[in-house]
Amino acid sequence: MTLEKINVVWIQGQGCTGCTVSVTGGTNPDLINVFTGFLPQIEGINLVYHPTIMVPWGEAASKILDDVINGKYDPFVLVVEGAVPDEKKAQETGGYYCGVGEIDGKMMLFDDVLLKLSKRAGVVVAVGACASFGGIPHGNPNPTGAKGVINFLGKDYKSGLGLPVINLPGCPPSGETIIEALGHLVLTARGALPVPELDADNRPVFLYGPKVHEICPRAGYFAGGKYSSEFGEPYCMGMLGCKGIITHCQVPKKGFVEGAGGCTTVGGICIGCTEPEFPDEPFSPFLQKAPVGPYASEAMEDMVAKVKAVLSRLLSRKI
Ligand code: SF4
Ligand code: SF4
Repeated sequence: MTLEKINVVWIQGQGCTGCTVSVTGGTNPDLINVFTGFLPQIEGINLVYHPTIMVPWGEAASKILDDVINGKYDPFVLVVEGAVPDEKKAQETGGYYCGVGEIDGKMMLFDDVLLKLSKRAGVVVAVGACASFGGIPHGNPNPTGAKGVINFLGKDYKSGLGLPVINLPGCPPSGETIIEALGHLVLTARGALPVPELDADNRPVFLYGPKVHEICPRAGYFAGGKYSSEFGEPYCMGMLGCKGIITHCQVPKKGFVEGAGGCTTVGGICIGCTEPEFPDEPFSPFLQKAPVGPYASEAMEDMVAKVKAVLSRLLSRKI
């Protein structure tokens, strides 16, 4: 991948365009700064294709996508928003589930476009719960056979830069999360940063390391045993169905837009939208309490830590 120019191709499958809305609300830097080259470290980013915010439309837009497929924009970063449906299921009853545009009178199907682009892409980034793990479209009973990009391309898939699919789940992820991740990858491509460490679900650890419960602004109330019994109260939302104890997400700490907002911060519960099982069990029903196991093991660890803290205070302290 050249240092000067990095092409970005953003395609959308089964989704609600919420990730696109979210990224347009990103700040520090915002999209204007990213695309105008205001930040020297990440200048040279060229958004080649994005069905929602690009200027060309109709067949002119499809022609650009066709050109990408045929190599005109190599090398490029492929960003995928939305799940991938099983078009074989659609064929059983006729028609198709997910077309992305017509060219020469023929519909381009999302799964076919994704497969072709994945063979040329320097990096593949799955943005949002749908592209990462299937999200809402793959929720039980999953009528379209929807799946995330990694399940569609296969766990052994490697991009042109030798990277697996990088997942940025969330429904949607915050704009900050998306821009931070893409910015990091641009700097990785330019040799300025190492490849981000990924967790077992291919999420960058620097963005998805902590559990919501560990960084929640209501964690002090949880530790003190104060629980909200109805929405609107300021205490821990665990009794109202919060799944923060089994969910990895930075939103409670970093907010949603420019440090403001965030689910538990503003009085909502965490519904686990960054986790592979979302929106199915154990994250649904959304208002059902989280499984007791993680709380029990946390309580045990807590007790041990408290005993250690008391014992350490009994020991003399060298100054
Ligand atoms: S259960 Fe939810 S609201 Fe309570 S401290 Fe944990 S993450 Fe915050
Ligand atoms: S706090 Fe929970 S519900 Fe909110 S964005 Fe993060 S994972 Fe999703």
